Amino acid sequence: MNEIDVLKRVSSNLTERKSSAALSNYQVLCNNIAYLSNLYKSSINAFYEIQKNISQVFDDDNIINQDYKKNKDLNSFLPIVKRLMLNSFSVCSKISLLTVPDNRNGITVDNVGLLSRGFDEYNDLVTATRQYVDSMVSDAYQLYLLNPKALNYHVLVSLNSFKKFATKSLSSALFNSDVDSALTEFEKIKFKDWNNSPITECLHPTFGQKVDYLIGTTGTILCDVDLSENLKNIFKFSSEFTHIGYVSTFFTSTTGAEVIFGDDTGPYLPSTENFSELKYEILLTACKLLNKLYLPCLIKCLEKTIIPSVANSISKKVNTIISSINEGVLSRNAEYYFFIKTGLVNEKVNIPLTCMCGITREWEYPHRPNDLFCFSCGSSFKLLEVAGDGGYIITSNGPIKIIGSSVPDFKDLSKPEQIKLLQQVAELKKNA
Ligand SMILES: [Zn+2]
Repeated sequence: MNEIDVLKRVSSNLTERKSSAALSNYQVLCNNIAYLSNLYKSSINAFYEIQKNISQVFDDDNIINQDYKKNKDLNSFLPIVKRLMLNSFSVCSKISLLTVPDNRNGITVDNVGLLSRGFDEYNDLVTATRQYVDSMVSDAYQLYLLNPKALNYHVLVSLNSFKKFATKSLSSALFNSDVDSALTEFEKIKFKDWNNSPITECLHPTFGQKVDYLIGTTGTILCDVDLSENLKNIFKFSSEFTHIGYVSTFFTSTTGAEVIFGDDTGPYLPSTENFSELKYEILLTACKLLNKLYLPCLIKCLEKTIIPSVANSISKKVNTIISSINEGVLSRNAEYYFFIKTGLVNEKVNIPLTCMCGITREWEYPHRPNDLFCFSCGSSFKLLEVAGDGGYIITSNGPIKIIGSSVPDFKDLSKPEQIKLLQQVAELKKNA
């Protein structure tokens, strides 16, 4: 192949957009987006209240740790921390607004075009995502370090760029004589020394280095080894959109008729579903970034600045957000096992499968394996066939009825019957 052959292939691939396949169940996707979107919104509202609480606490010098008290150098960090938290809240709110589920009310075949997703929607969502991951990691890094030189580096580099194009009114609003003198000091430093000078320092200049450093030091790596890769990938992906973006702009700006799909709720388009898939992945990553990286750094910041009794009581509230996001994320697209009597799958009956989210799916004859999932939360079901006449399987969650056996559900047994069964189990365990 020569350069023209390659150019021809690129040209045909970028301009003849293939009809995008609908990759997963749209209804499940909408349910999961609605669920995570609510969880995320309530979490950032709880974060906003905590942020107000911390701001009040910072005003009381009696409960501030020695190094951060009013007469000490590091006291300057307290207003900066307040500002960083407000900045974080703003970018969180933006993502929350852009990741709500599709509104399918009143959508018919005639107006289904309203659900079409193209350049504008992708551009809004993905550029906000770029801003979100970058800001949240950067803010978390500063909250964790509370290091004067590291903060100076971050702010002075940013001000230095801002000043280049800022209009007169913006400049006069932002650059007072204090900032001006700091910038003048910074401009004396050669570019190659910016990350290691008498007034500035940056040990982790790139996004990836900051992520790895924070994941390592906060202990997050122990519970989520994929988070680091996931964050770096979403950063590269969203940068592609916000920068040159050949692939992204060609992909999203192609117009043309779409095939109309439909489900129980009504019609929809392949582009709606493809966009929802991306929206869900972004929302999921936004939740993980907040609870596995940002909030643990906020707790470290509280431990450094506030006396232990008060820091602990605020950290408790932060931990409540962390646990609720953790549980919520784990409850989507999970995998659950059901014990089922051998041979029941071949019988002409509906088999009720109750998911952990509380929704029961009637698995209809002829029992297609493709139907083994929950419409509500997207979790997949695996069956374990159990031979013989046994009624219950003993699990770590207690006895569970084997589906298809003639015994009642364990929870429907009377209290004495439940106790008798548990005693039999204890006896068996002892003899084993
Ligand atoms: Zn479910």
